[in-house]
Amino acid sequence: MQTLKYLTGYPSHLQARVRELIEQDRLGALLADKYAQPHAVRNDGQLYDYVQALKDRHLRKSVPLGKVLYDNRLQVVKHALGTHTAISRVHGDRLKASREIRIASVFRDAPAEFLKMIVVHELAHLKEAEHNKAFYQLCTHMEPDYHQLEFDLRLYLTQLEIGPR
Ligand SMILES: [Zn+2]
Repeated sequence: MQTLKYLTGYPSHLQARVRELIEQDRLGALLADKYAQPHAVRNDGQLYDYVQALKDRHLRKSVPLGKVLYDNRLQVVKHALGTHTAISRVHGDRLKASREIRIASVFRDAPAEFLKMIVVHELAHLKEAEHNKAFYQLCTHMEPDYHQLEFDLRLYLTQLEIGPR
């Protein structure tokens, strides 16, 4: 049985359901239906403006933004989402120290909702280094659908790796 590396933190019944969708070759179409909206944030300058606008709306008083950029060396789960465990701590501290926001370049071509989700995630790290309760409260404050989007993003990354068949 294939390991769903993006979904290791999730309950096994959910993973079983996802395996079923993959076996039936339905995951890609399902995601394409649900997330049909692309975004126009193509380069680092546009990304900076996008992040700044969200920050102004929700976290005006937190530390000023440093650099904001797309990074094609970032592995989303290892560096951006963490794994629901202590590994994420390092990543949080690093971001806090530098106040720099790096977004994995896979998001350049991802649906608009997923870009927003990952930016919300990184903005929340400006205030909370760890993936704790306060951190996720900040995330859902900025994006009420945060948890569903993070789950669906993990499905999207899974599908990207499988590729079209
Ligand atoms: Zn994180």
